[in-house]
Amino acid sequence: MSYIVALTGGIGSGKTTVANEFAKLGVPLVDADVIARQVVEPNTPALISIQQHFGQDVLNHDGTLNRGFLRTVVFSEPKEKAWLNALLHPLIQQETQTQLQQANYPYVLWVIPLLIENKISHLADRVLVVDVTREEQIERTIRRDDTSLEHVINILNAQASREERLSYADDIITNHTDDTELPNRVAELHKQYLALAAQKE
Ligand code: ATP
Repeated sequence: MSYIVALTGGIGSGKTTVANEFAKLGVPLVDADVIARQVVEPNTPALISIQQHFGQDVLNHDGTLNRGFLRTVVFSEPKEKAWLNALLHPLIQQETQTQLQQANYPYVLWVIPLLIENKISHLADRVLVVDVTREEQIERTIRRDDTSLEHVINILNAQASREERLSYADDIITNHTDDTELPNRVAELHKQYLALAAQKE
């Protein structure tokens, strides 16, 4: 099993941007957002259960999951949210373990936005936090998603605070706007992780 480095950070902090820098160095990525989509792809057992539970309206015409419909239902019905979580969480966990175990490299970067919120940091050997200011998170997310300030603030307030997230960090990577140091910092961490992975073997 490869050494596991969890990469986390709040909305719009730059997790994807940082993960891409590691990928350029050949580091395999396991992405929690990708897995959350994979387990409900058309014809998966989970999507069939969701359709049986919520009815045909939960599917788009092309057979994919209608996320907007599902979000509205679970937002207004805590029982339905609990049902959905009970179905999906074990599948996501299982798929995550499978992908982490398949990584054929000294270490693997597990990109996991809700590492702290979901209390699963013990599953990683090392925690790397992408840190930016709240103002930068807000500005980038509004620009990227063309969304409202209120919407971004609601999400920020539902996530762990900057201070709480940093309290879990073994390493911190700052990703301030227009900082040109990111590739160098990633290269430095990469060396460190290869050394830590070699120690674990
Ligand atoms: P989310 O959790 O919301 O998916 P994320 O943490 O993966 O976000 P990114 O998608 O990497 O964050 O970055 C958010 C936005 O900010 C993107 O549009 C990205 O291009 C931009 N961005 C990332 N890093 C920087 C930077 N250093 N300077 C300016 N813009 C940046």
